[in-house]
Amino acid sequence: MRVAVVGLGAAGAATACLLFDRGHDVCLVEQAEDPRPVGAGIWLQALGQQVLDRLDLLAPLHQVSREVSRVRMEGRGGRLLADIGYDALPGSTPALGLHRGDLFSLMFAAVRERGIRLELGARVTSVEPRTGGIAITVEDPGGPDARDLGRFDLVVGGDGARSRVRDSLGLTARDRPYGYGALWAVVPDAGQCGDTLYQRMDGTRRYLGVLPTGRDRASLFWSERVEEMDGVLAAGLDAWRERARPLAGPHAPLLDAVTELLPATYRSVRVRSSYRIVGGGRSAGVLLGDAAHAMSPQLGAGTSLALADAWTLAAALDRGKDGLTAALEWYDDQRRAHVRWYQWWTRLMMPVFQSDLSALALPRDALAPLVARTPGVPRLLAGTLSGDRTSPRRVWRLP
Ligand SMILES: Cc1cc2nc3c(=O)[nH]c(=O)nc-3n(C[C@H](O)[C@H](O)[C@H](O)COP(=O)(O)OP(=O)(O)OC[C@H]3O[C@@H](n4cnc5c(N)ncnc54)[C@H](O)[C@@H]3O)c2cc1C
Repeated sequence: MRVAVVGLGAAGAATACLLFDRGHDVCLVEQAEDPRPVGAGIWLQALGQQVLDRLDLLAPLHQVSREVSRVRMEGRGGRLLADIGYDALPGSTPALGLHRGDLFSLMFAAVRERGIRLELGARVTSVEPRTGGIAITVEDPGGPDARDLGRFDLVVGGDGARSRVRDSLGLTARDRPYGYGALWAVVPDAGQCGDTLYQRMDGTRRYLGVLPTGRDRASLFWSERVEEMDGVLAAGLDAWRERARPLAGPHAPLLDAVTELLPATYRSVRVRSSYRIVGGGRSAGVLLGDAAHAMSPQLGAGTSLALADAWTLAAALDRGKDGLTAALEWYDDQRRAHVRWYQWWTRLMMPVFQSDLSALALPRDALAPLVARTPGVPRLLAGTLSGDRTSPRRVWRLP
């Protein structure tokens, strides 16, 4: 098939490699002219690691990652709310803490090594069914003219939370920005973060996260109302440190190493269906990753879900004998329950972690230590964090 994959994030890069390896004619379209490793640390769960392993990228990723085997949550004054270890679920694999840029570099190298056709500096503006396939129109951000990239049998929208492919195909059911986002920084860490993701909350409006990031760095995430981010940045780093210090606990020295804070926002995205068939079944558009299901990042699941989508889509197309429609129906069906479980959890967690609903803080702080010690709960939480649940008992496996 002639396949256009839009977006060089985890979803798009993995899909391009997997479909290219299966003999499809793949073109990867990315808006950035010179894509580079950027961003902060991410927490990559066992599910995402499994997909990277199948792409032979896990071993090199280990070289630049640190194991994150615990999550510690504290309330006001450092009161312990929960301490969840992946070891609560026997046989589970801990997460990896790594720099988003390191994952990007590995995946981009995998795309380049294969000689996959790349269209860089090409922002997709529309995706339309035409005679002979789906037409993709792109704009060069530096130039005035729109270009037609040709006709494709399958367009894969891996273009993130603000997906143009999703909107062009009329698949958006919900696309809302969250009121809260995060200011983040990456700082050197001589090992004091150990193997623990640390989170301290004061009410629901103040929250500091410290994530081990690779071998010698840590990422700080400071919760902030989106509309107040500019004010916090304008007030300067010292003013921010004053606010953050009471939440930093043992990590207070890391605050002094911050030289710049950068803003990140999140969106909540749902789709009517993850695909649309056009041209009487001969061509189609399909979404994956944040384009299909962007959510807040509390569970550190987004990259793993995106990689699982990519693997499942490739497996769906392998079953091509029944046609494109049947393959994409199967893909959508495979992914639905798994994605829904994580959407449900993030819907539950966002108001409790990052919101104006301050009244929730008191019951959260009172109940969390009890709930986290209830038999069965640590195991459920460790399983959900690992990224492969569809319900408290059901595990989702890569097809
Ligand atoms: C602050 C923050 C912290 C996070 N922490 C974690 C974490 O710890 N663990 C985790 O697993 N996930 C985390 N996530 C979520 C994770 O980043 C996403 O789920 C993941 O990056 C989704 O991958 P993707 O490939 O679908 O999209 P993206 O990574 O957004 O990639 C989309 C790509 O498409 C390109 N693009 C966009 N529009 C167009 C267009 N019109 N034309 C051409 N190209 C286009 C973009 O330039 C980009 O390269 C976090 C997110 C945020 C905001």
